[in-house]
Amino acid sequence: MGTLDVRPIPALQDNYIWLLRGLADPHAVAVVDPGVADPVMRVLSAEGLHLDAILLTHHHVDHVGGVVDLVAETGAAVFGPARERMPPVDVHGLAGGGRAPLPSLGLQFKVMAVPGHTAGHIAYFGHGAVFCGDTLFSAGCGRLFEGTATQMLASLDALADLPDPTRVFCGHEYTVANLRFAMVVEPGNSDIVDYVRRTEAQRAASLPTLPSTIGLEKRVNPFLRSRHENVRASAERHAGARLATPVEVFAEIRNWKDRF
Ligand code: ZN
Ligand code: FE
Repeated sequence: MGTLDVRPIPALQDNYIWLLRGLADPHAVAVVDPGVADPVMRVLSAEGLHLDAILLTHHHVDHVGGVVDLVAETGAAVFGPARERMPPVDVHGLAGGGRAPLPSLGLQFKVMAVPGHTAGHIAYFGHGAVFCGDTLFSAGCGRLFEGTATQMLASLDALADLPDPTRVFCGHEYTVANLRFAMVVEPGNSDIVDYVRRTEAQRAASLPTLPSTIGLEKRVNPFLRSRHENVRASAERHAGARLATPVEVFAEIRNWKDRF
């Protein structure tokens, strides 16, 4: 089985709408988190593609704003979190442990519940890829708008448990800014220094820094490293207090980043 063909459609300020090509029919495609319809419609018509499915990770408008227009234009099937308010179209509601079958594309994804950024946030895992919306960013994670630090850490732990080579497709291009913070948390981490060099070159050339991989994120992402001694020490220094548990460490670095 070949590698899943995925490419970014940049949208809005710094969102990526991920376009997935079918293994069964190369003209059948799906998109993840279309915050706007126009850039997707342009790609479909320029390349003679038909949009068969839309996968949604959470309810924020920069991820779902294009759904109504895309469904009206294409009739695509829509999958999204059962626990969140979705656009006014037929949505196959999904929860953790569920599946998103895309038969016309020859693809199927497992659904992971990854609450924290929003209460019902889900991720789609399959074919060596995970589409994680605003839960995990490269070198960062989503803000806790609706969930707790405990929930978010559990969600990030579940993502970190995926195989190291898993390609990570996030909802936003935030990598360079996230790494500025990661460097302050872990100034002695040479993987971060290397990654800064690489991603700054990519952005200077207007290239996406994504996808990342789970293996890389475990080396550079402070939010996946709450159990590492250096991250804990740094968080304790910032808090001016002893932090007894990984959740306390995670909550402290999330707070720190919110004000960074
Ligand atoms: Zn969001
Ligand atoms: Fe977002």
